[in-house]
Amino acid sequence: MELDPDLGLQLSIEGIPYARVHPQPDVRAFWEGAEKGELRLRKCKACGAFLHPGKIACTKCLSQELEWVKSSGKGTIYSLCKVNYVFTPEVEGKLPYFLALIKLEEGVYFFGIILKQDAREPSIEMSVKTVFDSDNFFERPYPKFVLV
Ligand SMILES: [Zn+2]
Repeated sequence: MELDPDLGLQLSIEGIPYARVHPQPDVRAFWEGAEKGELRLRKCKACGAFLHPGKIACTKCLSQELEWVKSSGKGTIYSLCKVNYVFTPEVEGKLPYFLALIKLEEGVYFFGIILKQDAREPSIEMSVKTVFDSDNFFERPYPKFVLV
């Protein structure tokens, strides 16, 4: 893996790039929040709608006057997938793991890994909260979720 301070982290398999994690200037506040253990969202100053960190305009009123806010980090599992196959070298030895679409309390949908902390199997509508652990193949803190 190769980390460029401006372009981010490039993931590759045998030298062939397949993905890049972008801490680009327009989402730098998201990554700074992650460094502090905060899940940050955008909020529209015009209508108050909460938005995914990657949005550059409000999806309700199209305003571009957005601000960064701290999410409660709480939500429920909206959709779920149990991964049993090594798609990338970074997950070697970590199978199975759960990939989920989380509906945050603020109404924003956020994609993430669910860390298994006990014998419970994650399922739809279970409550989760955000955590930031040290096992990040992005080589920087990234929000994950645990069952509550
Ligand atoms: Zn708006």
